Amino acid sequence: MFEVKATDLAGRIGQLTTKSGILETPSLLPVIHPSRQTLPAGTIKDLGFQAVITNAYIAKKNCSNVSRKKGIHKTIGFDGIVMTDSGGYQVLEYGDINASPESMTIFQEEIGSDIAVVLDQPTGVRISRRYAEKTVKETLKAAKKTLETKSKKDILWVGPIQGGIHLDLVSQSALEISRMNFDILALGSPTEIMKSYQFKLLSSMVIAAKKKIPVNMPLHLFGAGHPLTIPLAISLGCDLFDSASYMLYAREDRYFTDSGTTRIEDLTYLNCSCPFCSSHSLKDILDLEKEKRIDVIALHNLHVLMKTVKESKEAIREGRLWEYLGSKARCHPRLWEAFRSLSEHIDYLEDGSSLFKSKAVFFTEQIDHVRPEVKHHRTRLEHNIEFSKPILLLLPEVEVRPFYNSPLYASISKVLMERRNKVQVCFIVPTLGVIPLEISDIYPLSQYESSFKPDSCPDISEAVIEDVERIINSNAIIDIVMLVDGVFSRNLAEKIQVGRSISIVEAENGDFQKTTQKLIERLRMIEP
Ligand SMILES: [Zn+2]
Repeated sequence: MFEVKATDLAGRIGQLTTKSGILETPSLLPVIHPSRQTLPAGTIKDLGFQAVITNAYIAKKNCSNVSRKKGIHKTIGFDGIVMTDSGGYQVLEYGDINASPESMTIFQEEIGSDIAVVLDQPTGVRISRRYAEKTVKETLKAAKKTLETKSKKDILWVGPIQGGIHLDLVSQSALEISRMNFDILALGSPTEIMKSYQFKLLSSMVIAAKKKIPVNMPLHLFGAGHPLTIPLAISLGCDLFDSASYMLYAREDRYFTDSGTTRIEDLTYLNCSCPFCSSHSLKDILDLEKEKRIDVIALHNLHVLMKTVKESKEAIREGRLWEYLGSKARCHPRLWEAFRSLSEHIDYLEDGSSLFKSKAVFFTEQIDHVRPEVKHHRTRLEHNIEFSKPILLLLPEVEVRPFYNSPLYASISKVLMERRNKVQVCFIVPTLGVIPLEISDIYPLSQYESSFKPDSCPDISEAVIEDVERIINSNAIIDIVMLVDGVFSRNLAEKIQVGRSISIVEAENGDFQKTTQKLIERLRMIEP
């Protein structure tokens, strides 16, 4: 059973019930080698990892009797939740292996996995479309065989989605597997894409899959264990990840940081306060013998991954996943490219972003103009707000919010009250666009902080122009009065003046009294 507890963007906090306990998601499952693990699984549990993943195919090959007799938990020494992969990765690496979907189903049941995976045919990356089609087909066949073979009811089964970089195949694979009776789905084989930092392509693959599967279905992303991949994958709605990266990178002396990875010998400072870094100096670590050093770096790497997952979860709870992802995206141009490409998928991200949040929305970059909260507002403006008065008064953004509490509005409220059936008042904000006075207290229209100020923001987004034009062109409006103050409203006036007459009131530079007097005089020309 999977229960979603909180959402932001497409990311969610969930609870997955397994026979060994409840797993809070998003969750990263470190990869444990069934027979050659140097870092004890118990130590990994002490770091706070509730679940790990191990390879049932290798367990069957190297220690099948022990695993059958003791069960997989005791074999690897982990008394939490154990997921087993079934050798798909080995198929990708070594071609055909000596196992069938049926035999791997029976074996995973015999060893008592909590979460088990179909022996799939990973698509991989550098292959023809025809071969990709074949992997999708073969994986679906294997999935069917697994469901027919399994006999225990207490194991959660994972149905793999294939298709690789062929997004239509990913969609088709996701749709077909989601019609089968699986507890969890998994997106297969993007490891090579992640290794080469193709985050934009990864996003497209995840979204192609997610759009075809039910909302309440957990999705595992195979091989996503890099500090930069995790926030992106979580924001796109992946719930589970597995990774051997903490160990693979450690073997090459590569040390995870909040912004990526670095070779430990390139460091000048050990800028981490995890228990392993606090108890060693940089020199201590470099002086350790190879095996010991690998373990210390691996533990540090796990600590960074855990921290990244926790930060992402906190960001979901606080409704600040967009800000968090944006801060991570600045760490690498390829991640920034992927973040920017999310503007094409705002519809997808909008569903999970709640309408009301406890924290203000921040606008610091151009990309923030497309964040889901802006989309929400624009949709509401288009479908739920009626513009039925004949005169539209456009005012520039002011500091005090809600706008009806501002000195500007206070100074003209009397003259407007006398004409309340005639004049519709809207403020124009560089980020959120048109804000009708009446709804200016609705979230986030008075709960936002922006670096785009009307006196210093020359650029007007297409969206703002579109919204203003739509309102102006609605049947009710016959006259427009606009207070122009600062470069933003001046540029906007120039754009919307084309082909129509607008009554412009120029603000008196820095003189509030004179400005409001001019505006009042103009408004008095409207018959009450
Ligand atoms: Zn550390």
